[in-house]
Amino acid sequence: MHPPSLLQATMSNPTNPAAAKSVSANANATIGKSHSGYIGRFAPSPTGPLHFGSVLAAVASYMDAKANNGLWLLRMEDLDPPREPAGAADQILQQLTQLGLHWDGEVLYQSQRLKNYAEALKELQDRQLCYRCDCSRSQIRNMGSVYDGRCRQRLTPASHEFAVRVKTDAKAIEFLDLIQGAHQHAIYTETGDFVIRRKDKLFAYQLAVVVDDEYQGITHVIRGFDLLDSTPRQIYLQQLLDYSTVVYGHIPIVINALGDKISKQTFAPAADIQNSSRLLHQCLNFLGQAAPGALLNAEPQSLLAWGIEHWDIHAVPKLATIRQDAPK
Ligand SMILES: [Zn+2]
Repeated sequence: MHPPSLLQATMSNPTNPAAAKSVSANANATIGKSHSGYIGRFAPSPTGPLHFGSVLAAVASYMDAKANNGLWLLRMEDLDPPREPAGAADQILQQLTQLGLHWDGEVLYQSQRLKNYAEALKELQDRQLCYRCDCSRSQIRNMGSVYDGRCRQRLTPASHEFAVRVKTDAKAIEFLDLIQGAHQHAIYTETGDFVIRRKDKLFAYQLAVVVDDEYQGITHVIRGFDLLDSTPRQIYLQQLLDYSTVVYGHIPIVINALGDKISKQTFAPAADIQNSSRLLHQCLNFLGQAAPGALLNAEPQSLLAWGIEHWDIHAVPKLATIRQDAPK
């Protein structure tokens, strides 16, 4: 444990990146657990209770962290208040607790981190790595899936409502996904300059997540396949901001019989936490871990212990999607 005076001294100077790093190191030290250096996380958006797909992501990231003798941190991605019903964040904490998925340290709330996102944005602005964009929705729609960069060189000032985009370059981002294998993406030609602060002044997910992964010292991110196409943008921002590069693994997302991702938008029911052993058993099987049937009636703790002991990330299906009603 560090003496409190050291923590206060570093926290009083949050604009200094070196100090910010030592705050992160201190935050980890205060968790007080010895670990391998692996730090994973689960980062739900509190738009409602966890459904099966999000529990699956929680279990996968928890298993990989614990099987590697690592820490498993929790972050609430509560940056979009209109989409967040009151009490949803607490409900998620309760669901995780009931499943026996205990996180290490304190929960980090993105809503309390706006200053830190503003600092990262300012750094990019000071280095002239971003610009204002006031293109309308229909203009952007007409460009197709790649932003054409037209506001980079604009001669008239942007209107008072503008997004901030980061300049991208032609260099391809390459990474080795722990589950899905090698990936390569040329952001400039395949995505274009992307938004890091939205027109409504909310910080974009891509910026916030990268700032927080660095702050929490995250080394490994295991999450759903739907976020695979965000990964090159996140690695690109990590490089621009001189942060550590995270290792990623993307599990298949769960879809319903119609082929839609099960989510709040497709009216997926909350995960059946009352039957937590059955739910954990189902998750392990979806993740290719072949949990013995005899464990169906075991306590959640026994299932988690079995899962950690037998965890094999190579057995996770190398698929984009998996049907919830797939036969097991
Ligand atoms: Zn524009």
